[in-house]
Amino acid sequence: MASRLNNLAAFHQKLAKANRILAICGAGLSAASGLPTFRGAGGLWRNYEATDLATPEAFAEDPGLVWLFYAYRRHMALQVKPNAGHHALAALAKKNPNFLCLTQNVDNLSPRAGHPPSQLRTLHGSLFTLKCSSRSCNYMEPSNTADPLCPSLAPASVSPPDPSQPAKIPLLDPSHPLPRISPSQLPQCPRCQESGKQSLLRPGVIWFGESLDATMLSEIDAWIDQGGPVDIVLVVGTSSVVYPAAGYAERARTKGVTSVVTVNKEVEKRMWTRQEDLAFQGGAEEWLGKMFEPLIGALPGGGNE
Ligand SMILES: [Zn+2]
Repeated sequence: MASRLNNLAAFHQKLAKANRILAICGAGLSAASGLPTFRGAGGLWRNYEATDLATPEAFAEDPGLVWLFYAYRRHMALQVKPNAGHHALAALAKKNPNFLCLTQNVDNLSPRAGHPPSQLRTLHGSLFTLKCSSRSCNYMEPSNTADPLCPSLAPASVSPPDPSQPAKIPLLDPSHPLPRISPSQLPQCPRCQESGKQSLLRPGVIWFGESLDATMLSEIDAWIDQGGPVDIVLVVGTSSVVYPAAGYAERARTKGVTSVVTVNKEVEKRMWTRQEDLAFQGGAEEWLGKMFEPLIGALPGGGNE
């Protein structure tokens, strides 16, 4: 029996017969673009745990601090480029209208690679969406890439001269005091302002303790449920045996035979215990172009911008 690890020929056979394809992408997809993700334990920003800044409570307590953190992430995301993994997924989407891509990344790199918006769902929102922080207002502003976003957040829009030493810029040096930013210096919701209220705009990302967009989730469920079998579930830059990828793979399998294909730096045997499953060990930027090549052709310059 042929190996189910790093077997391009086996994947090409599946791809040739596949109609409906679902991808679930995690932080590993953007790693090769050079972005820190700050998710999970040990993600420090200055001397703050990044997870402590990504909550509604932190925003309520010190919106200026939380905005500086997000303004820095917006700035950094604008400095990097989509990699060959983003380009390969975007090219596959253009070739196959029955390919839906879910991403946990908020960095906007898939849209920048030209991924058709109708075939992309950003599970955790986007750094470049602004939304009203008031629960009674649903104002939302998509695709705001202003950098700096406003004068008070300009200290976050400074690039480190050496990207491998980000702590060398004043904003990231914990011995440098942070600028104090009052709420009145932060972006305000224009809709609330019209009705004489004052509400801050906040980053349009899902914070810890918040639920994902219910409409988006039911659209994804409907996509899985309302067509033929999902032939391939691609799990890119995250683990296929933990939520949410594991949940989507399980749901897809109820429709028929689904090959779950993992592309991740870390793979483990339980990802390919079923004979229809495959795994590729390494970065999305190394593998996806080769995997999709029979359909999308060779990516120019290996697909890296
Ligand atoms: Zn509002």
